[in-house]
Amino acid sequence: TDYTGRPYYRQVFDVLKNTFGLPSFRPKQLDAVCAAMDGRDVFVLFPTGSGKSLTFQLPAICQKGVTVVVSPLVSLMGDQVQALKKLGVNVAQLGGNLSEPEKSQVKAQLWSREKPKLLYVTPEQLQMSNYMQSTLQWLYEHGQLMRFVIDEAHCISDWGRRFRDSYTQLTELRKNYPEVPISALTATANAEVEHDIISRLNIQNCVRLKLSFNRANLDYEVRPKKGHKGCVDEIAAVIQTNYPTDTGIIYCHSRDRCEEVAKELRERFGLQARHYHAALDPRDKLRVQQEWNRGDVLIIVATVAFGMGIDKADVRYVIHYTLPATLANYYQETGRAGRDGNLAHCILFYHWGDATSRIEMIRREDKPDEEKRWVEEDFWNVVRYCSNDVHCRRFQVLDFFGEKFDPAECHDLCNNCRDKTPTVSEDHTEDAIKTIALFEKLSQTGNMVSRRQMATAMRGGKLKAMVDKGFTGVEGYGSLKHLDVQVAERLVDEMFYRGVLTTLSHNAGKLKRGQIQVVLERRDNGKASGSKAPR
Ligand code: ADP
Repeated sequence: TDYTGRPYYRQVFDVLKNTFGLPSFRPKQLDAVCAAMDGRDVFVLFPTGSGKSLTFQLPAICQKGVTVVVSPLVSLMGDQVQALKKLGVNVAQLGGNLSEPEKSQVKAQLWSREKPKLLYVTPEQLQMSNYMQSTLQWLYEHGQLMRFVIDEAHCISDWGRRFRDSYTQLTELRKNYPEVPISALTATANAEVEHDIISRLNIQNCVRLKLSFNRANLDYEVRPKKGHKGCVDEIAAVIQTNYPTDTGIIYCHSRDRCEEVAKELRERFGLQARHYHAALDPRDKLRVQQEWNRGDVLIIVATVAFGMGIDKADVRYVIHYTLPATLANYYQETGRAGRDGNLAHCILFYHWGDATSRIEMIRREDKPDEEKRWVEEDFWNVVRYCSNDVHCRRFQVLDFFGEKFDPAECHDLCNNCRDKTPTVSEDHTEDAIKTIALFEKLSQTGNMVSRRQMATAMRGGKLKAMVDKGFTGVEGYGSLKHLDVQVAERLVDEMFYRGVLTTLSHNAGKLKRGQIQVVLERRDNGKASGSKAPR
């Protein structure tokens, strides 16, 4: 569409340059901005990191009145508010940890002449306080309520992965404020979720803007992690063989690991590597980032703190020494590779032990239970991605975002498509039911059951630790002898992903045939077991 005739055309570019300091729009940003400037309802489905925020922030700055942004996570909200403040934008935030005086200050600001351009609120805030309701009503009656922006809009849909009760009331916005346009933004929505968002918010005539999430020039690979030393050896080999003069990023979860891996790459392999993490002195951070940007340093070993504001086009590889927190993060972190459109490699090192220790960390965190469950669920998706050695990796990543991708379009740019070992699909429902029953019995001994112990118990192994814990005596011990150890472990994993062996363990025994179906697809290692899945 040609927007040059629009009355706000110049202004939009002025604000882009002068307020945001950016030279140009990214794909579909201008469409989204103009749709908002035209007062339309907007639905935006862009990948994380593609610049969704600009699509509502920029119009909010151009327009008079207040744009209300509903965002579910206080921490994300805080980041956006800080960034906008730095740009000199008048912005306010209501949610989470604000003290009462701070809240009253924001409210006073809303009634004053110097109204904020953007007001960030949690859905709970919007719902709970009468004062909030009356303030919105007052703004509305004075024509000062410009737009509602629903960030993470998939939370409104119970088709989605993250339905939130507090989002339900957002369905009332159209009724209560019929004149106020609504924007819905998300980075994850399949067709059902999209439809659900649009119908619940009652924005059927919205402008729909979507970007494909596919990064066709990225090669995705998962490798088994063979201990710390083995992993560093492999990383060094990849770099020395394929990328001796190229730029790359290696992500580690902890600061210590970053330092350690960088040091080993330098000392054992003579590779020019630097570490980067949040605990570095701000001057060092800047220096490392600049050296890397200029190409004086080729290899950065970093925590996720490294990434904000990186715009280096020729990153040839992104290696994950440890597992990313979510597939969305993985997509974003790997997305820093190959911005120039040339081939780049994304290699993820995976070891089950890394997964379980991370899960334990998540459970120990001091956060509300609901949030922890989300975090854990997201992380299981990463583990599932890693252990799925059958389906196209690109398909899996895009499927997570609700995008249908035809694996034929991968062109063997992932290790699963390259692997030509035949695959088998077997129905393990009966085995799963036995596994659950066995897990119940093992848990009743009062001892924790690890994944490995579970697989051992299924196959009736006689390890001393199993005897000591009283596991070997329980009913059903060894009832799945027919399973190959790898298949047994895959089955246990599947039960963990589905939450059957953890959250449901207290009533898992009540699970009946017909309530669960488990089909495992795996590479045919010649040790087939179970029965062929019905097609
Ligand atoms: P999303 O909300 O889609 O995950 P953000 O809005 O947080 O993405 O934007 C991701 C990054 O991209 C931010 O650092 C932002 O400053 C940057 N960005 C957004 N739009 C542009 C643009 N037109 N040009 C350059 N950088 C941009």
